[in-house]
Amino acid sequence: MTETDYVASNFIQEIIVEDLKAGKNGGRVHTRFPPEPNGYLHIGHAKSICLNFGTAAKFNGLCNLRFDDTNPSKEEVEYVESIQEDIRWLGFSWDDRLFYASDYFEKLYEYAVRLIKTDQAYVCDLSADEIRAYRGTLTEPGRNSPYRDRGTAENLNLFTRMRAGEFPDGSRVLRAKIDMAAPNLNMRDPVIYRILRAAHHRTGDRWCIYPMYDYAHPISDAIEGITHSICTLEFEDHRPLYDWLLAALGFPEPPHQYEFARLGLNYTVMSKRKLLQLVKEGLVSGWNDPRMPTICGLRRRGYTPESIRNFCEAIGVAKANSTVDVALLEHHLREDLNRRAPRAMAALRPLKVVIDNYPEGPGEELEAVNNPEDPGMGTRKIPFGREIYIEQDDFREDPPTKFYRLAPGREVRLRYAYFIKCTEVRKDAEGNIVELHCSYDPATRGGSAPDGRQVKATIHWVSATQAVPAEVRLYDRLFNRGNPSGAEDFRDCLNPDSLQVLTAALVEPGLATAAPGTIYQFERQGYFCADPDTRPGRPVFNRTVGLRDSWAKIEAKAGK
Ligand code: ATP
Ligand code: MG
Repeated sequence: MTETDYVASNFIQEIIVEDLKAGKNGGRVHTRFPPEPNGYLHIGHAKSICLNFGTAAKFNGLCNLRFDDTNPSKEEVEYVESIQEDIRWLGFSWDDRLFYASDYFEKLYEYAVRLIKTDQAYVCDLSADEIRAYRGTLTEPGRNSPYRDRGTAENLNLFTRMRAGEFPDGSRVLRAKIDMAAPNLNMRDPVIYRILRAAHHRTGDRWCIYPMYDYAHPISDAIEGITHSICTLEFEDHRPLYDWLLAALGFPEPPHQYEFARLGLNYTVMSKRKLLQLVKEGLVSGWNDPRMPTICGLRRRGYTPESIRNFCEAIGVAKANSTVDVALLEHHLREDLNRRAPRAMAALRPLKVVIDNYPEGPGEELEAVNNPEDPGMGTRKIPFGREIYIEQDDFREDPPTKFYRLAPGREVRLRYAYFIKCTEVRKDAEGNIVELHCSYDPATRGGSAPDGRQVKATIHWVSATQAVPAEVRLYDRLFNRGNPSGAEDFRDCLNPDSLQVLTAALVEPGLATAAPGTIYQFERQGYFCADPDTRPGRPVFNRTVGLRDSWAKIEAKAGK
């Protein structure tokens, strides 16, 4: 394939195609995904991962994984590990290109010394408040720091002693010497090093000065030979600083930064600070709570890597921030699961049914299709007998109009089995329905009547003697407001009904040994994924998503 054969599918790829045509970077495409290890990855990061790794793959290039670990106080090994696991699970590989900004601390220090020597950086003794006051505002220029013109020798001496630990935290900083009157505030002599005594997850106590993100990032990119440094829109105003630093240090073929819109999703929050708060305050069960928008939460919920990648492809890459409807994410999940999830039957809220005219004894085995979308997935045997359980919702003693399921005197089809007709309703002392009695028609085995009579509903069921008890966790949106971050306190919008636990569900016997992560479609109810809490003989299922596709409805309404 030659450069001209590539078809760009977003504006960043258009830039890359142009760069390749112009012969830039020797025809190389090299991107990176640069998470800060201060939390777990979420669906927004997935967009960035798909863009960075996907774009590199498309152009036969490379994508590095680089931990931007320049802020020791918030970073932890736990996050470093989870981030790698999640990227791998999404289906991407960095091969041997795993880097840490902290790998470059020594080089970054040397580059800072070089900036000092070329009169492009100085040690400033102003306090943080004073620096802010001197910076000016959007309408007023800043003022030069009184320390701006101290000589090179004094700067070198002070910077060396900052590193040596001679000064207290926060007492001095190193600043780039740019322009205190620049219209862009990021160019008003930004701080590039600070004194901070905090143990770093990799370098321990070796350093007591740490580079700022805006300083470390462009240089890390340049060191790794990155060609296209793709980040989110909030860094647009930082780009002049990115370019200034690389020019000041004289990198011959510097990387370029391109910004795209962050993914926002309704009914959730994506800020790591807020997600951490949910975890720390016990408002969810952990980072991988199936209601969380984290990759590990989505995985536990039953999301597949393909569904997430397809979603990221579908939303595209734009220059303007927008909020995507979570229904679109669920749509891609259903599309994928519909193809791959084997079907099974489960009674979530079971109601016992005794078929009086069915012979006593062991019953029989019936054949059920594993996935009507994929005949290759074959069939399975399911046990049927005189006593079964159906779903409570599938029976009404006084059926309203349009309720076609089971009711006194009415006949329905049991999926893969027979027609049954309700002959008696039994209740307990309080009047609760506890058992139905029915008759069945042996001639309808397999689901149709030889005399051609029709029924209006097919319901699912499980064998009373052989079904396996299971716990089923029904999840709903974590927030009951489309934009929880718009509320005064996002925690006020937590949906009190976001988790409902059903402890008396019954599933068909084949599911007794479902391995955690296995996903089924429970017929007529939705997709369910075996949870890591599953124990032998006691499976636990998370409802991944219901069957109704609200996105398809939205599209139909819009006439698409
Ligand atoms: P914070 O939540 O504090 O804003 P962050 O989400 O920017 O942090 P990083 O670890 O710095 O966290 O993110 C790694 C990369 O993922 C960055 O390049 C960032 O731009 C990108 N990214 C983060 N959030 C999103 C999002 N919602 N949509 C797309 N990309 C994102
Ligand atoms: Mg960030």
